[in-house]
Amino acid sequence: MRNDDTGQVVLVTGASSGIGALSVRALARAGHTVYAGIRRTATRNATAVAELTRYGTDHQVDVHAVELDVTSQDSVDAAVDRVFAERGRLDVVVHNAGHMVLGAAEAFTAEQFADLYDVNVLGTQRVNRAALPKLRERGSGLLVWIGSSSTRGGCPPFLAPYFAAKAAMDAVAVSYAAEVLPFGIDTAIVVPGAFTTGTNHFANAGAPADTDRAEAYDRRHQPLRDDLGRRLAALVPSDADVSEVAEAVARLV
Ligand code: NDP
Repeated sequence: MRNDDTGQVVLVTGASSGIGALSVRALARAGHTVYAGIRRTATRNATAVAELTRYGTDHQVDVHAVELDVTSQDSVDAAVDRVFAERGRLDVVVHNAGHMVLGAAEAFTAEQFADLYDVNVLGTQRVNRAALPKLRERGSGLLVWIGSSSTRGGCPPFLAPYFAAKAAMDAVAVSYAAEVLPFGIDTAIVVPGAFTTGTNHFANAGAPADTDRAEAYDRRHQPLRDDLGRRLAALVPSDADVSEVAEAVARLV
C-alpha cells in the first residue's frame, strides 16, 4: 500500500531489529511513509537495510533506510534533514533506539551508566532538537516513546543503569507532553513488558555481565546471580509476541 493523503511521514529510531524493525513494517503496511533510522547502514546493519528494502519492494510499501546514530547530533540532524528534503514534512517520531546491559549494580562503572543514559535518554533529546521545530511549524504531530514496564514496578535485579535510563526517559517524555500539546503535538509512551529481542536475551542471561569484578560480591549475592537466567527468563511470558508492540505503535499513529 502506498502513502496517500491520510498517510503520515514517520521516523523510527533503532530500526535495524526487534521492536523498531517490526514497527517500521507495521506502520508501512498501514499506509504510512516510514523512514527507518538505522545506525551504520553500510557496515554492521547492512543486512537489515537489505531486508528492509526487499520488504518494501515485496509488499509495495513506502519504507526507506536512513543512517541515524542517536548518540551523534550530526547524524540525527542529517537524518531529519533528509526526511524533510525528500518529503517536506515529518509527522511522527518513534523514539525506539535503546540499549541494555545486565550486571550487578555495584560492579557497573559510572561510564556504563552514562552510556545507557546517552543512548536511551539523550538520544531522544537529540532527535527532538532536530525534529520538533518542524513539527511545531506544522502545528501537528505525534511523539511515541518506547519505554519499559520495568519503570512501572517489578524491575528485576541487575538492571540498574537500564532501569535508571528508562525511568529518566519516562520523566522526560511526560515533561515534553505538557510542553508540546499547545502546539498540537501529542505524546504517547509505550511500556512493553519483556520480550526476547536483540536487546533482551533474557533466556540466555546466565550471570551479570561484569565478571571481572565478581570477587566484589558478597557470598550472599551468589544465589541471586545463579538464579538470574531463570528469573529473567520467567519475565518473558510463553505466549509473548513482540509484534504486538509494533502493532500498538501502528495503532497509535
Ligand atoms: P533490539 O536490540 O532488537 O533493538 C534495539 C535497537 O536500538 C537496534 O536497532 C539498535 O541498533 C538500536 N540502537 C542502539 N544504539 C543505538 C544508537 N546509538 N543509535 C541508533 N540506534 C541504536 O531490542 P528491542 O527491539 O527489544 O528494543 C527496542 C526498544 O524497546 C528499546 O528502547 C528497549 O529499551 C525497549 N524495550 C524492550 C523490551 C524487551 O523486552 N525487548 C521491553 C521494554 C522496552 P544496532 O542494531 O545498530 O545495535
